[in-house]
Amino acid sequence: MDNKQIYEHHNWESLNKTRLMPKIQQVMQSIPADVKTLIDIGCENGVITNELGKKYDVLGVDRSRKALEFVQTPKIEASCDAVPVEGPFDMVFSSELLEHLPENVFNETIKEFKRLARKYIFITVPNGENPDKLSIKCPACSYIFNRPNHLRSFSVKDFERLFPEYRIIKWFDFGKKVRYYNPLLLKIKRKISPPISWIPYYWIPKEERNTICPRCEHAFYYSWRFHPMALAVDVFNVLVSPKKPYWLFVLMEKKEEHV
Ligand SMILES: [Zn+2]
Repeated sequence: MDNKQIYEHHNWESLNKTRLMPKIQQVMQSIPADVKTLIDIGCENGVITNELGKKYDVLGVDRSRKALEFVQTPKIEASCDAVPVEGPFDMVFSSELLEHLPENVFNETIKEFKRLARKYIFITVPNGENPDKLSIKCPACSYIFNRPNHLRSFSVKDFERLFPEYRIIKWFDFGKKVRYYNPLLLKIKRKISPPISWIPYYWIPKEERNTICPRCEHAFYYSWRFHPMALAVDVFNVLVSPKKPYWLFVLMEKKEEHV
């Protein structure tokens, strides 16, 4: 199954406004005063898009028809690497999209952002996370994947590299603090404890443990069994790894020579 299937299976109603309100407010406050039109690429169920639509002329783009049913602004069903509109828009906005994209789609999507933005690009992604912290081993095909299906992580430096035609005019981290997991410790933990002991119930509650393997489509429930070595590594990680706000917000403006 590709990611598309996973998104169609997603429970879009679970992504609700109450939970994301602080983030939505932060987004609204960060948008420059001269923005009137914007395109929200990877708008999911419109939880942010619909709020943006109250103040701006917004087009929502997502590849999930099911998600788009909740979007109240003008919208189109399309993949983020080939958006069938001419643009440009004052601002391209994208929230929690880039971390999900495989290499080829990712590169084309960055190009689309640049093509569609007249002046600003505003991106939110997880803040330098190590998504492998939530590693799961599929019991059917033994494939190891991370629960959020995040394929890459970002720091603000990555945006300087990816968008050389832009300058970063504002960036900050925001949201609930979550603990980073040291990659070396994670490797050790995987070696010395069984997969069933990798994600304790105090990280992900029992009722949220249904998942689908992105490789073989096997749907399963991953339970947890205590293992002393897994706990030992987790405790050591707490000592060496900081907690940090979950999201990174980056607002960029096109450099004058590229306008
Ligand atoms: Zn599998």
